[in-house]
Amino acid sequence: MNLEQYKKAVELLNLYSYHYYVQDNPITTDEVYDKLYHEVLEYEENHEDDILKESPTQRVGDVISDGFSKASHLSRMWSLEDVFDADGLQKWLTKTYKLDSNISFYCEPKYDGASLNLIYENGELTQAITRGDGEVGELITQNVKTIRSIPLTIAHKDKIEIRGEVVIYKDEFERINEARLKSGEAVFANPRNAAAGSLRQLDSKITASRNLVFLPYGVGENSLEHKLLSQRMEYIYSLGFKKPPLSATCRDFDEIEAVYQEMNKKRESYAMMLDGMVIKVNEIAAQIDMGYTVKNPRFSVAYKFPAVEKITTLKEIILQVGRSGVVTPVAIVKPTNIDGVVVERATLHNFDEIQRKDIRINDKVIILRSGDVIPKIIKVLTHERKGNEVEYERPKNCPVCGSELLDEGVLLKCQNLKCEARVINSIIYFASKPCLNIDGLGSKIVEALFNAGVIQSVLDLFDLTLEKLLALDGFKEKKSRNLLNSLQNAKGCDYWRFINSLGIEHIGEVASKTLSERFGSGFIDAAKDEMVACDGVGEEMAESVLEFVRVNRETILKLQTILKPLEPKKREEAKENPFKAKSVVLTGSMSQSRDEIKEMLEELGAKVVSSVSKKTDFVIYGEDAGSKYDKAMSLGVACLSEKEMRDKIEQVG
Ligand code: NAD
Repeated sequence: MNLEQYKKAVELLNLYSYHYYVQDNPITTDEVYDKLYHEVLEYEENHEDDILKESPTQRVGDVISDGFSKASHLSRMWSLEDVFDADGLQKWLTKTYKLDSNISFYCEPKYDGASLNLIYENGELTQAITRGDGEVGELITQNVKTIRSIPLTIAHKDKIEIRGEVVIYKDEFERINEARLKSGEAVFANPRNAAAGSLRQLDSKITASRNLVFLPYGVGENSLEHKLLSQRMEYIYSLGFKKPPLSATCRDFDEIEAVYQEMNKKRESYAMMLDGMVIKVNEIAAQIDMGYTVKNPRFSVAYKFPAVEKITTLKEIILQVGRSGVVTPVAIVKPTNIDGVVVERATLHNFDEIQRKDIRINDKVIILRSGDVIPKIIKVLTHERKGNEVEYERPKNCPVCGSELLDEGVLLKCQNLKCEARVINSIIYFASKPCLNIDGLGSKIVEALFNAGVIQSVLDLFDLTLEKLLALDGFKEKKSRNLLNSLQNAKGCDYWRFINSLGIEHIGEVASKTLSERFGSGFIDAAKDEMVACDGVGEEMAESVLEFVRVNRETILKLQTILKPLEPKKREEAKENPFKAKSVVLTGSMSQSRDEIKEMLEELGAKVVSSVSKKTDFVIYGEDAGSKYDKAMSLGVACLSEKEMRDKIEQVG
């Protein structure tokens, strides 16, 4: 890097920071930013006289936006030095041991959200300020008061600054984006941008609706007297703040590395996004002695996790047709390794989203892969276009059967009930776990049977014979017999499974159970108002059932004759208990499987549903409860631990 390149790099980093901190809408990945940042840092180490005062290495990165009034922190807020591998960690340790060799370390997650400083005076939250430039930030007290995990009063009466990160849990992020897609709004790129954007809303009601969560990681001005950071943090948690999902004190490199590996392995299972682990010197006296550089504390470092966002190229958009005829666009991207997994496909959500983001073939895009969810295209790098990008045309015909698509705006639908893709996918659904749970009838086998012409509908499954199967490629005797046995075993299934397996639009497992319990095989003659009278069945659902039955009555009856699903046992009227006729949501891990707990509560007459609303009576939570718990708290829904639930049940006897 020469001086000219250095100046350009600083300018580019500042542009990236503007989009990241002010717009909450980054135009590159953290990985690209970090790489360039470190090149700049290296240049500056060798050319001290050239250092530009606007270099991002010389200041905390956030830029303050004009929308809010400004406020000063009582003591400065800092950024963090970062390392990316064991070698980097070793170098940091060597450097730190030179300052003081008699130290231990406190390790906790590096949350990927937005920094926040909370000032409490006389035990009351008086100001909440974003990090800003470290000295001055945006005053967002009103918004912050809507965050349930931030106590408005604490038992500590001396003036204290509590610092932490505001995050959005991953499932809440998905929920917000789904709602935004439905209402035709642009989706947030990632939970970090969603959290930062939600925090800095001019309307506090919007902030409140986003279910933000605050996780403390330290203090600023304080009069605490703990000798160790680990003790200080325990004290902070005891004031009513959330604890990290994992933290540890470590003596040396090996112990730190072990905790890092464990945290990285578990990170996907945590409710919030982490982008690394922070290591801090545990002895507070040593921290004070070590002090700060212009930007970072010398006593701590961020040990980053492998990146989950990468830049790649969009090569093609292919179309998939689901069982209900909805056509989904899927991106085929230049294969890219993300944290050990080669990603070749990514979801594009829907056609509106392609248009809104103006996604073109050959565009450079950012993809995100986190957890088990399908990778997503979160950003198009329009500023990197070269001119060979091709606009995408909204399809007019079904890619599988060619029939004209129904364009509903957000969704495109193939209306041909005989469309091959629809038929194959509905058979796959019919056999899947929450439906008839037919072992050995996965998507590959269904496709093979369909393509060989032996099945054209679910009814044909029950005409399969050993001879027919043995005549097909790849069907040996054992596999064929197993499949025939599984099909036999599906007979006599619970009635709700039968309803669910039909694949009626808007009717999932919970509604199937409700309809089964209320009507049994009579559901095909149920009237709309009878259905709507059932808890949890809305007009749209009832209409969907009526329409399905109108078109498919004959098939339903034939299938019923073949499968002989069991009429639901009239549950004995449960005796009076606190859960009878109550709407209950389960969250977190419990001592028994969720299915078992659900069954137990259903026996008591409860209705176990999957999402929390104002109508929910109880949320029962286990360990690592996530956003459902927070949502319940924010709506004022009663929350019971597993033990409290069991105690209540026992009291009834
Ligand atoms: P940082 O995010 O790397 O680290 C400092 C911050 O980490 C603290 O201010 C705090 O908010 C947070 N943090 C989370 N958990 C913590 C914990 N347990 N203890 C202490 N702090 C904790 O530094 P930064 O200065 O905020 O931002 C720089 C980073 O932001 C870069 O490394 C880059 O990844 C990203 N960035 C990306 C772009 C982009 O365009 N993609 C642009 C600018 C910055």
